Amino acid sequence: MKTIDRERAIRLLTEFNAVNGVSGDEGRVADLLEKYLAPITDEISRDVIGNIVFVKNGRDPDVRVMLSAHMDEIGFMVSDIDDKGYVSLVPVGYHIANILVNQNITIRTDRGDVPGVIGAGKPIHELLTDPKGSKPFEWSDIRVDVGAKSAEEASALGVRPGDFANMEKESRVLNGKLFSGKAVDNRAGLVCMLLAMELIADEVPGAQIHACGTVQEEIGLKGAEVLVRGVKPDYAICIDGGIGSISGELDDKARRFYLGKGPGIELYDWCTDTCAGNIVPKQMVRALEAAAEKEGVPYQYSIMIDGGTDACAIMYGNHGVLTGGISLPMKNLHTTIGLVDIDDVTNGAVLLARYLLDLDVTR
Ligand SMILES: [Zn+2]
Repeated sequence: MKTIDRERAIRLLTEFNAVNGVSGDEGRVADLLEKYLAPITDEISRDVIGNIVFVKNGRDPDVRVMLSAHMDEIGFMVSDIDDKGYVSLVPVGYHIANILVNQNITIRTDRGDVPGVIGAGKPIHELLTDPKGSKPFEWSDIRVDVGAKSAEEASALGVRPGDFANMEKESRVLNGKLFSGKAVDNRAGLVCMLLAMELIADEVPGAQIHACGTVQEEIGLKGAEVLVRGVKPDYAICIDGGIGSISGELDDKARRFYLGKGPGIELYDWCTDTCAGNIVPKQMVRALEAAAEKEGVPYQYSIMIDGGTDACAIMYGNHGVLTGGISLPMKNLHTTIGLVDIDDVTNGAVLLARYLLDLDVTR
């Protein structure tokens, strides 16, 4: 297997984090993916809702593997502009409202990007319902300053209800190990998929590989559910973030899943509210373990209760799809800035590339 240039992986993570793509507005992320994957794949298509698929031909065109990494990030939609020029937002994807105060955002209008700052219509200290400020902020309090003093002035900037808005944060590397960014969920997964496709660029795999950037995962796995009907895969691997920790602590579900200990081979996802989930077939787990062991990359196991990935939607597709996942341990998921270990991303790519090359299609 070729080796991955770690510095280039960091540059890719930075480039993919910088681009904005709230659920429903992923076009710029798809364009970026196309820049890198178009030269090394055989066919490209986009569907009407924005999913993008890159096909790499294999020896057997009748066996298809779908790789799925969601392109969207959590963000906001403009819901209203009041007569003082303040912009109201509603969430797109799951957020914690009370950490949003004082964040920089960018509103994407028909006339271009407009910068804004999340605050409130009155001074923040007046909104504190708890003297220690532990619960100061609700969605209904959120008002964005865009530098306007009236609805007319905000409208003149191009801001309208229905515009998407995203978090603005600079990406950084911490201690040479961790990558921080506003959208590591799931740009790290996209970079992992991209690096895997680069590793096998000069090889002919057994199956046809459909590397997919999916849309609207954060609002309920919408893109993957549509895409699986067209791709009709036999196998699928989702590459996404999982809830990770830094050191020896167990989380409230007694899981140990650490940044820097290798990509996670998914065993089981289940959301107890919606019953969406996926139990990864044992043979798929074994094939992914064998790939990691052959390449000498560390791995751990991923179980996500009360969460899910595109895998939940894909396994229903076609006539049932053998669906597994590579889960990258992340901290601060669904907050304003996430963390992922750079080596977990590159090791995930090596694991995935080996799995694709060794997949036995003589079923
Ligand atoms: Zn995700």
